[in-house]
Amino acid sequence: MSGAAPRTWQLLPLLEETSRFFAARNLENPRLQAELLLADVLALRRLDLYLRFDQLLSPAQVDAYREHVRQRLRGVPLQYITGKAGFRNLNLSVDPAVLIPRPETEILVEVALEYLQGVEAPQVLDVGCGSGAIALALAQECPAARVKATDLSSAALARARANARELELADRVGFCCGDLLDPFRPAGQFHLIASNPPYVRRGDLEGLEAQVRDHEPHLALDGGEDGLDFYRRLAGLAGPFLAPEGLLVLEVGAGQADEVAALLEQSGCFAPASIRPDLAGIPRVVSAARRAEA
Ligand code: GLN
Repeated sequence: MSGAAPRTWQLLPLLEETSRFFAARNLENPRLQAELLLADVLALRRLDLYLRFDQLLSPAQVDAYREHVRQRLRGVPLQYITGKAGFRNLNLSVDPAVLIPRPETEILVEVALEYLQGVEAPQVLDVGCGSGAIALALAQECPAARVKATDLSSAALARARANARELELADRVGFCCGDLLDPFRPAGQFHLIASNPPYVRRGDLEGLEAQVRDHEPHLALDGGEDGLDFYRRLAGLAGPFLAPEGLLVLEVGAGQADEVAALLEQSGCFAPASIRPDLAGIPRVVSAARRAEA
């Protein structure tokens, strides 16, 4: 028998200790992160922790929590530790094969939904779907839509398919592996094509926040030398895959909106683009309709 009995922990002091620890390491929202990690270990909703501050945790629970905390201190994003990320109304499962859905991408979904309101039985495509966030949010919020989604990464598609099943949307969302629109060649007819392509300039990848740079998939981030590779390719490709006056909706990086709008116009296939800012006021979503005569 070893000497001291293992220390028992009540929930509140454990949370307080962890949030002090996180604060000392300059993690954002230290208490919130401590709570989210503990809620995950205990399979509770975060707010339910507040009803159980006196609860004694088992040594196995404390060990599992400490392992979560260690990973977070090593810089692993919280969503990869819990395997969950919120996006609009959805609880998605995520892993390091997919980008963690960002709040600004919710604006892209908003722009898409506004357009889809006026379309009967819309056919929708999400190019480079990652976790499936855009495709699944559109299917969930526009029940008349039939959605297809592509990704080059089969690991990402496996995650997206699992999300579709989990959210009971698999009957209206289909997934295909391939580069951009390749799975639909020679022709497709979509009312809306949405994409959040990789858009970080290659030279900027090293300078990204460590948590992004070291853990999120570079395949989903690297937009080539000037960050615009995928917009150039989509501007050249997407027109014929859209129904007449169908809409292309693209998320763009900070400072890219005007260049992307110009690329779309120069292709000759699209009417002048509209640009929508995100909640920080950064022009974030570029959308343009296929010209009827194009
Ligand atoms: N928004 C991502 C970031 O924070 C980039 C996503 C992308 O390249 N599409 O770095």
